[in-house]
Amino acid sequence: MVGSECLFCKIVDGRIPASIVHQDEQVVAFRDIAPQAPVHMLVVPKLHIPSLEALEQEHQALVGHMVLVAQKLAREAGLAENGYRLVLNCGRDGGQTVFHLHLHLLGGTSLAGRMA
Ligand code: AMP
Repeated sequence: MVGSECLFCKIVDGRIPASIVHQDEQVVAFRDIAPQAPVHMLVVPKLHIPSLEALEQEHQALVGHMVLVAQKLAREAGLAENGYRLVLNCGRDGGQTVFHLHLHLLGGTSLAGRMA
């Protein structure tokens, strides 16, 4: 899918609405529309990268930034003490449904013992 037709590119561009919780030069973060935990946010690069499999060496700093933004959001949501989970689904068997790289931040309840 080309970037202009991509759901998350449309959110990044403001063409469709989202509950945005963070925005900077590199990423946008917003609440997941179908939360799987009391806190469920997505950290999305502004650059259209279809999946983890499309990452190149040049994206190394961007991926690090995504993780640190997720950490910041987790702390702001009060999750730091009890913990939280970051998930990055890759491809069909990995459960990826939106083909624009994104990091899930899940927390606010115990996820121990649940891998999916
Ligand atoms: P994945 O299955 O890893 O590709 O995750 C895609 C996520 O995007 C799912 O958790 C969806 O609930 C979420 N999602 C889909 N459409 C929207 C939307 N318009 N706004 C926010 N989250 C969305």
